[in-house]
Amino acid sequence: MRKRKVAVLGATGTVGQRFIGLLASHAWFEISALTTSERNAGKRYGDVTPWHFGEDMPAAVADMRLETTRAELDAEICFSALPSDAAEQWEVALAKAGHHVFSNVKTHRMDDDVPLIIAEVNPEHAGALDVQRRKRGWTGSIVANGNCSAITFTLAAAPLHRAFGIERAVVTTLQALSGAGYPGVPSLDALDNVVPFIGEEEEKMEQETKKFLGSWDGIAFRNAEFAFSAHCNRVSVRDGHTETVSVALRGRPGVLEVTQAMRAFRGRPQELELPSAPKQPIVVRDERDRPQPVRDRMAGNGMSVVVGRVREDPVLGLKFVVLGHNTIRGAAGASVLNAELLVAEGCLGA
Ligand code: NAP
Repeated sequence: MRKRKVAVLGATGTVGQRFIGLLASHAWFEISALTTSERNAGKRYGDVTPWHFGEDMPAAVADMRLETTRAELDAEICFSALPSDAAEQWEVALAKAGHHVFSNVKTHRMDDDVPLIIAEVNPEHAGALDVQRRKRGWTGSIVANGNCSAITFTLAAAPLHRAFGIERAVVTTLQALSGAGYPGVPSLDALDNVVPFIGEEEEKMEQETKKFLGSWDGIAFRNAEFAFSAHCNRVSVRDGHTETVSVALRGRPGVLEVTQAMRAFRGRPQELELPSAPKQPIVVRDERDRPQPVRDRMAGNGMSVVVGRVREDPVLGLKFVVLGHNTIRGAAGASVLNAELLVAEGCLGA
């Protein structure tokens, strides 16, 4: 298979850096452009990026020059980790100019012709790209990723919705600091503290989850229908969002049926053996004190969500804990997997 040129938009940021970690030696993609705001244009990536990870920055990327985001980038695929104002300005312009944009940004997630995809959950939503291109007259496209908390919840919920049907769910999140980007939450607000508010997060979770679990009927998206309430909190954890979930399922299945459905869950990425697909999208642990961010966030190279403490709930019937790596499964990794899926399915041309 030929290697496709890809750009990382917002390359110096938290999600942009994750993209670079995942793409620097990718079998199908080669990084051809890195973009920044005006202030760093023309500078060497390695000189201006506050690299967050233990491993060294890939040497070839460190030597690349940063460019401003613009419609004429030398790349077939653009992975967008832009702030939302820059995404509003550039994502449509890039798609119009023929680029395939895989976005992590909220801007177009709920558009009625933009597929919001988790590769294992709703790959058939990619069918909306034909409508998108026809309606907007684009040769390129926009495919969106969800919010990191919505992706984590939805992956765990998908096999349950499929097998039984969700009637009602209540989720409380404990979200990592890296979810706020860099420099993010000031240290004096973060340390020794829990902040019980994250702007727009609860609304995003409640809306996006229903789009993911809904259907594409060839003309429009039909949202899944169930009552859903999210409480979102920022906690002093570096990476990995933990979510405690209570859910009412049709037929009131027991703990064993639920864990079996989660353990057996596989999707198109596993069937197609895509390079970034985890073997098991959901890892279920039986220990009474798992999952934990420091121990479990790198399961499946950060691409699996980890479920634990599946048990009866006296109010809604069932409860469990789920953990997902917010910048990998909840952002860059999910986007790369979506791009691999669409390449493999022939949706981005030969
Ligand atoms: P971040 O750490 O603040 O990074 C954003 C980067 O974009 C900055 O490094 C900024 O740096 C760069 N930038 C600003 N204007 C630009 C432009 N016009 N062109 C190119 N780059 C520009 O934020 P983040 O956490 O990586 O988030 C990026 C996006 O992903 C946001 O929309 C966020 O909501 C979304 N997201 C984040 C997460 C997460 O877990 N963090 C999860 C899901 C989705 P320079 O000024 O150096 O260029």
